[in-house]
Amino acid sequence: MNGNIQAGYARLLGTFMLGLMQNWPLLCHKVLDHAARVHPRRTVVSYAADGVFETTYAQIRARALRVAQRLRMEGIQPGERVATLASNTARHLEVWYGATGMGAVYHPVNPRLFPEQIVYIIQHASDRLIFADPAYVPLLESLVDRLPGVHRFVVLTSAANMPATTLPGAIDYESWLAEVRGGDGENSWASFDENTGAGLFYTSGTTGRPKGVLYSHRSIVLLSLTVNAPDMYGFTARDVVLMAVPMYHANGWSWPYTAPMAGASLILPGTRLDGASLCELAQRHRATLSGGVPTVWQGYLDHCAKTGERAASLGRLFIGGSPCPEVMLRAFEQDHGIDVVHAWGMTEMGPTGSACVMTPETAQLTGAERMALRQRQGRVPFLVELKLADEAGKTLPWDDQATGHLHVRGPCILREYFGGEEQRLLDSDGYFDTGDVGAIDANGFIHITDRAKDLIKSGGEWISSVELENAALLHPAVQEAAAIAAADAKWGERPLMVLVLKPGCALTQEELAAHLAARVPRWWLPDAVVFAGELPHTATGKVNKARLREQYQDWSTKRGSD
Ligand code: ADP
Repeated sequence: MNGNIQAGYARLLGTFMLGLMQNWPLLCHKVLDHAARVHPRRTVVSYAADGVFETTYAQIRARALRVAQRLRMEGIQPGERVATLASNTARHLEVWYGATGMGAVYHPVNPRLFPEQIVYIIQHASDRLIFADPAYVPLLESLVDRLPGVHRFVVLTSAANMPATTLPGAIDYESWLAEVRGGDGENSWASFDENTGAGLFYTSGTTGRPKGVLYSHRSIVLLSLTVNAPDMYGFTARDVVLMAVPMYHANGWSWPYTAPMAGASLILPGTRLDGASLCELAQRHRATLSGGVPTVWQGYLDHCAKTGERAASLGRLFIGGSPCPEVMLRAFEQDHGIDVVHAWGMTEMGPTGSACVMTPETAQLTGAERMALRQRQGRVPFLVELKLADEAGKTLPWDDQATGHLHVRGPCILREYFGGEEQRLLDSDGYFDTGDVGAIDANGFIHITDRAKDLIKSGGEWISSVELENAALLHPAVQEAAAIAAADAKWGERPLMVLVLKPGCALTQEELAAHLAARVPRWWLPDAVVFAGELPHTATGKVNKARLREQYQDWSTKRGSD
């Protein structure tokens, strides 16, 4: 292009640009700036190992700015990952905002992963610096020989409570932060493009090796906005959010951003996620809403059933991560007066993909129809585009009859895994196959019947493990249930049900069959029922079906020889 044409082109572009709006990068720290300015007095209560601290968004911002400066002093470069092995506390939040505020990436590691997985993902992310709760110091000490790239461990506590440790370069967080030159930290964040990486999360690896998903500033801010629509999370400045979803689980479902954006108060419970603690914290702080995986909220229900306690202020619960059983929906709604919103998502989606909130078409439903709808995973919000497709990728109708794979695309959905593993994840239209199987009705309500790999294929027909489990859980003696495929010479696969019974309860296979026969087709009835002391769970609290399948892979052979 010669000079004149180039200048003319630039002038033309300038003319078109006139009247355009400001181009403001969507950066994570903008959320904290907003909360500190507009909601400076909203409290954040933090249950750390060394005490309970009450702070504000303004104070968290001031300290996060110091973290940013201190990370620079540490030699952390923009784009570099810093790991956290930490529960939900204010210090953990400061590290997130501090890291992203200087252009680095926070990388929360789920401490409940297998040690080999922890080593693998810390190495894969090339973390050099790890922030850890004191409780995880012994775990890190046992792994440190396999983490030669990590040069420094900052323990999220004060000098007075610093545990003795052999970790290299170990220092308590408060002393580390106090080393900021000038004391108060620089008063500004770094500036960079909104497509810069901000948070790195690994899928828990129930299928193969953990894979990293790198959320950008833009995707985090957009998703936090979109999921805070009234028909999704809908946090307000009047809410007190009990953050029972661990921050290391898929960006804490965006709550570390949606809460300050809305000016909702936050209760960060640390490791207090058992039923009794959740109930106590919800009552003490008058929490208005909370959420998490069903296993955590089962603990709450069990505690309340035992003690008769209730958290009267709790109005809404967002339950997702695995299917919310009917029995749980009923208990919260009927015995606790709590509105359960069933939500669906996955790490690859940032993570939230849908929520089940009534529409004018469904608000009139009553009885069994209403309950069936509330068990659905709901509808996608703006920015999540959904397609139902068969195995060959052909689009299927939203008629509630056609069953296929759920595919999604949007600006908050992954393009590729961190490190470029598994290229060509998307189809030619940019859709990502979630691996979840289900149907969608004419109003857009998703009904997930299973994960593709958990479906049971008997005589060429599919059996939904989720529906079998749901039906089993409606029996008053059943505490936990998992249906898995067992190899079968005649049918290919047949359902095997593994049950944990409630303490002091008894149930025979015949009684279970009679109970199930009233709820599912007869040919779905499990061929075998195993009564177990407990079920294996993944690091995010879901039933580990892969492990169960391994455990019972030779079931049919065993049965044959019985
Ligand atoms: P992992 O794959 O390691 O379990 P994720 O937390 O990303 O990690 O899990 C996402 C998966 O969890 C989804 O693909 C889906 O199978 C399941 N899931 C999440 N929420 C729900 C829900 N409400 N109902 C059914 N399945 C769900």
